[in-house]
Amino acid sequence: MQAWVIGNWKQNPATSHDVNVLVDDLLTAIHAETQTDTSLSNNRCTLMVAPSCIHLAAVSARLKDSPVLCAAQDIGGHSASTGAYTGDCSAQQVVDAGATWTILGHSERRQYYKESHDSLVKKLTHAFSQNLGVVLCIGETQTEYDNKQTLEVIDTQLSVIKDLLAEQPAFISLLSEHLIIAYEPVWAIGTGKVPTVTEVSNTHQHIKQTVAGFAETLDAMTVLYGGSVNADNADSFAADPMIDGALVGGASLKADSFLAIANAFN
Ligand code: PEP
Repeated sequence: MQAWVIGNWKQNPATSHDVNVLVDDLLTAIHAETQTDTSLSNNRCTLMVAPSCIHLAAVSARLKDSPVLCAAQDIGGHSASTGAYTGDCSAQQVVDAGATWTILGHSERRQYYKESHDSLVKKLTHAFSQNLGVVLCIGETQTEYDNKQTLEVIDTQLSVIKDLLAEQPAFISLLSEHLIIAYEPVWAIGTGKVPTVTEVSNTHQHIKQTVAGFAETLDAMTVLYGGSVNADNADSFAADPMIDGALVGGASLKADSFLAIANAFN
């Protein structure tokens, strides 16, 4: 199965200058890697980065001829491509800026902006209407983990897919190619704490079975792990066949650590 390593740059870097330095580093490191045999040159791993919206067009223009795809970090919740929705970027606008994917449902959006189930169903609809792929983030909080509610929480979060298909049955043909699930325990994001590989593997197996239960054609869902993945621990996650790649925050802001993670999954 194709692996994916996706860098979520969040609200980083602060300036266009620093964004350009990161893109320069990434392009230089990829160029160096593709000159060797033991590297990204075997192309098993798809690389993608999600810059902040303000930098999306510039980054995607610079990465156009590289193997790195570009994603948005979110899209607006209104169906209109344009209109009076201050602060929003529509699915059509992020596509126009060069994104082929968008992250949706990141725990920071759920926590700080009260991203809801209904809003996510709408955003999934807008994204797929524009042929935009979606990296749907799900995961439990520390309290939910401590209370052994992980699978219950995940089932509730995954039900957006079931509700989307009930509303938009035609999207079924898009989902196997245009949907990736990222399992990100909230307590592992940016904390340096990680679940065991066995815990991640078992949760991924549950996610794959649950999504396959929504439609037969979804029996090979790509499921990434996210939460404090770095160059040192990536190998252990990559060794598990249930883990199809990584969604990486902090470690994606340094080209060498991002590529080391990509190589672990290659
Ligand atoms: C994330 O926020 O998606 C993430 C995985 O962050 P980090 O790798 O920094 O834990």
